[in-house]
Amino acid sequence: MAKVAILSDIHGNLEALAAVLSDLEHRGVGEIVCLGDIVGYGPDPVACVDEIRQRASVTICGNHDEALLRGALGFNQVARRAIEWTRRQLRPTLLRPRSLVRWRFLANLPLSAQRFGWLLVHGSPRDPTSEYVLPRHVAWPPPGMFEEIFAAFPTICFVGHTHVAGIFTDVSEPRFTPQSEIDGPFEFEGSKMLINVGSVGQPRDRDWRACYLIVDEGRMEYHRVEYSVERTQRKIRAVGDLDDSLAERLATGE
Ligand code: ZN
Repeated sequence: MAKVAILSDIHGNLEALAAVLSDLEHRGVGEIVCLGDIVGYGPDPVACVDEIRQRASVTICGNHDEALLRGALGFNQVARRAIEWTRRQLRPTLLRPRSLVRWRFLANLPLSAQRFGWLLVHGSPRDPTSEYVLPRHVAWPPPGMFEEIFAAFPTICFVGHTHVAGIFTDVSEPRFTPQSEIDGPFEFEGSKMLINVGSVGQPRDRDWRACYLIVDEGRMEYHRVEYSVERTQRKIRAVGDLDDSLAERLATGE
């Protein structure tokens, strides 16, 4: 098996995506898997969709990708305005020759996929696009939450969606280990793992650097990559429909 990069939640941040793509090229990664939310919040949805469409072997549908096509249900005001602006950038028109190809790609994204026996979803196995599995759920899980989630896959499930990188283990006494506490490569050791690969374009684990994960012959390793946050921030501030808070949060990773 060649090296596979698993990335998620790019959110239209081309500088972050480009930094990750060059990092994984440098590391000899042969395949890219994307867990969704290519767009939303960020200033470069078209370029990010083109990169992922051309490079990823599998791309899962995220809640923002879904909102492009089906409406922004349950989105707050900032996210809704952003996705409506994003839709105007991506909507197919005769004047934009590649827009139909892009739109069809987005319309056909699967809700989940299997790869090497692992389950790939954006949110969680029981609600693929929408459910947030958060570190705080470990202390006070809704009844049956981890039992149901862990029953839905045999070994490893890769997710994104929360933008918080780390690993959930152990059904009976769920634990969360944040990416910051994981030093170097790790392996599957026989008990199920729900692995959140973090976010490329809008991390929310107090580390502003783009996050992704590489799988290499069963060994997995997180990578964090620096990129020009200022450049992305300038682009966000230049678009009236993208709230300034979306630029500010990139600097702190919150
Ligand atoms: Zn997201």
